[in-house]
Amino acid sequence: MFRELAEPLGRVLGGDTAKAFLPLGVETVHDLLRHLPARLQSGTEESDLGEILAEQKAAEKAGRVVDDHVAVVLKVARVARYDANGALARPEDDERDRKKFEKGRTRARLEAELTDHGGNVLKVTWFGKTVYLVGWKRQLEREERGLFVGKLGWFRTTPQLVNPDFVMIDKSGGFIGTEKKMTIARQVSKHPFLGLYRQSKGLPTWKISESLDLVLDSLAGVPDPLPDWVRAEAELPALYEAFLAAHHPTTRAEHADGVERIRFDEAFATQVAMAYRRADTARHLAVRRVRRAGGLVDQLDGRLPFALTAEQERIGAELETDLASPRPMQRLLQGEVGSGKTVVAVRAMLAVVDAGGQAVLLAPTEVLAQQHHESITRLLGELGAGRTLGAPDDATDVVLLTGSTPAAARKAALAKLATGEAGIAIGTHALLNATVEFADLGLVVVDEQHRFGVEQRNALGVRGDRHPHVLVMTATPIPRSVAMTVFGDLDVSTLRELPGGRAQVTTTVVDQVVRPAWVERAWARIAEEVAQGRQAYVVVPRIRAEGGEGASVEDMHALLVEGPLARIRVAPLHGRMTREAKQATMAAFAAGELDVLVATTVIEVGVDVPNATMMVVCDADRFGISQLHQLRGRIGRGSLPGVCLLLTGAEVGTDARERLEAVAATRDGFVLAEVDLKQRREGDVLGLSQSGGRSSLRVVRVLEHADLIDKARVLASQVVERDPGLTDPGVRDYVRQIELLAADDWSEVT
Ligand code: ADP
Ligand code: MG
Repeated sequence: MFRELAEPLGRVLGGDTAKAFLPLGVETVHDLLRHLPARLQSGTEESDLGEILAEQKAAEKAGRVVDDHVAVVLKVARVARYDANGALARPEDDERDRKKFEKGRTRARLEAELTDHGGNVLKVTWFGKTVYLVGWKRQLEREERGLFVGKLGWFRTTPQLVNPDFVMIDKSGGFIGTEKKMTIARQVSKHPFLGLYRQSKGLPTWKISESLDLVLDSLAGVPDPLPDWVRAEAELPALYEAFLAAHHPTTRAEHADGVERIRFDEAFATQVAMAYRRADTARHLAVRRVRRAGGLVDQLDGRLPFALTAEQERIGAELETDLASPRPMQRLLQGEVGSGKTVVAVRAMLAVVDAGGQAVLLAPTEVLAQQHHESITRLLGELGAGRTLGAPDDATDVVLLTGSTPAAARKAALAKLATGEAGIAIGTHALLNATVEFADLGLVVVDEQHRFGVEQRNALGVRGDRHPHVLVMTATPIPRSVAMTVFGDLDVSTLRELPGGRAQVTTTVVDQVVRPAWVERAWARIAEEVAQGRQAYVVVPRIRAEGGEGASVEDMHALLVEGPLARIRVAPLHGRMTREAKQATMAAFAAGELDVLVATTVIEVGVDVPNATMMVVCDADRFGISQLHQLRGRIGRGSLPGVCLLLTGAEVGTDARERLEAVAATRDGFVLAEVDLKQRREGDVLGLSQSGGRSSLRVVRVLEHADLIDKARVLASQVVERDPGLTDPGVRDYVRQIELLAADDWSEVT
């Protein structure tokens, strides 16, 4: 069936029509079939205008794309015709005017008021030649109700349609109208429900309906690709019936079932592709790395300045089991900044070293690599001191390797990795290029890289026939449904708590327009914190003053040092400073030689100064939820309570403002991730290719349909168990569909 579904639309509908569909992101037959009705209009049933208007307002308020195309069945409450000068025309003059202006070009106006049961009013205005207007007026007066189709707009506070198409409905439910207006009426009489579609220029909803009819006709009799037992298990209609039901249902329940099946297919395609990928990975071999009693892990545990939390212990055990397996580990470790991922990763790396292998830790930036190197060597102490005097016999060496490592140091590090003298390498992705040779690479840990794609994961250090174990770490909380969809081929471990809890951080949204005095107060508060020996961050969206909107580092720094913070030590920090300057500034801040940093999001990750207790984010609405969450993670790191002020000009009720309120309301990263996901476009969140608007998920929303995804995941695993060789032609189609879509993105995988 997928061959038919993958047909370009032009083959069935012709090139012109196909072109008109492009703005809707609809390119293939399958795309069109998944262009589901935005609303169903039930035949001649009177519409609920109140509900439609409420939906409209809600969408507008949320900043969503408003589908303003409506078809409504409403009562005609009043009709009035006006002449070209705007004067009300007397009804008794209708016939006279019709004759008088029959040949004329004068444009005049016809107005009607439509109402629903709830007394909601919709104003309608037609502009046109008098001769037509008189005719339409008669039609409108002849019957009580009509079907009106057009674009919903507003005249001041009154909703209105301008020049809508309409047909009247007689007492028995039949349609009355001119031939030209009957297309839509025919759609309605042919099907009990009229699907109203998101439309584009030159493609009104009924044209979409007609196109769908053609496409549906062309597919009749094509077999269902889903194995029967899966369909029975999931209690879903057959695919062709589902398409029919989604677009031309006889009942609303039937429509819902059809849509459910179409959604299931999308979820299933993704999940079954992942399941086969998982199975494929499981066929790869890895070297088993069994932790050695009394080895480095035990010695580290003995010298840790703290006790591992229960979660760290549990996840440590999970990793140990994975590492001891002959299959490569593919695991995602998520936990907020400060949740203690590093020590978990270090223990896993040491377990591999204990078993005679090597481990690398990859960081996204040189600065982070360096910080990891420092903190890990500190954590390991003599265990990481290599063959130095006094170090234990099994001590290993930890080398740092980044793009800026000086040649001599680089050469030494490479030699230690090649001989196995260094058990642990820390660096950026440059570490994995072909010139770096390992004696026996057993584990790759990737830090702060949740967007790390399958392709990169596959490319990681596969040398020879043995794959290394892979652990990906992220501080961005990923809701389970997203993890299942995007990381369906990874096992997931989650650190939910921070060791030792967290200091309280109070977050307040400050309206910089309505309450300018509070902004002044914010600077005063920073000065107070500093007077008590604390430190603070001022975060701004931009570096330079000129060009663009929103506060800049330059402006804000100048403003603060000349004004409210004149007497304290303030320094700028941003990505365009030289590496040396950045590092010097951060070091000075960490050492307490600076009181306030005016910075861009460069401080988002990796800066760890427990003495910093306050953060002011300027133009906070310019940052995303997860960014703000990460930024705020910079304070409240010690035992001291923190204060975070989000300055904004965003008005109450806007999306931007709601984002900020959400951040102020909770510090639970998972809750915030969900809010974030609800507000953003799915594709952005998933990091999937949006090239040409194509994505494997058209009708599935990962948050809303988590249960469905779950169901599809379970069934997909069963499919792989029953048919490990992927011999079922239908299932193969699902997998191929996903791999083809992915190929846009992942052309370099194979
Ligand atoms: P992450 O990498 O998840 O952001 P880190 O591993 O850097 O977090 O841990 C943050 C801080 O917490 C570090 O200073 C670390 O030494 C400390 N830490 C880790 N685990 C514990 C624990 N169980 N008890 C107390 N402190 C811990
Ligand atoms: Mg970390």
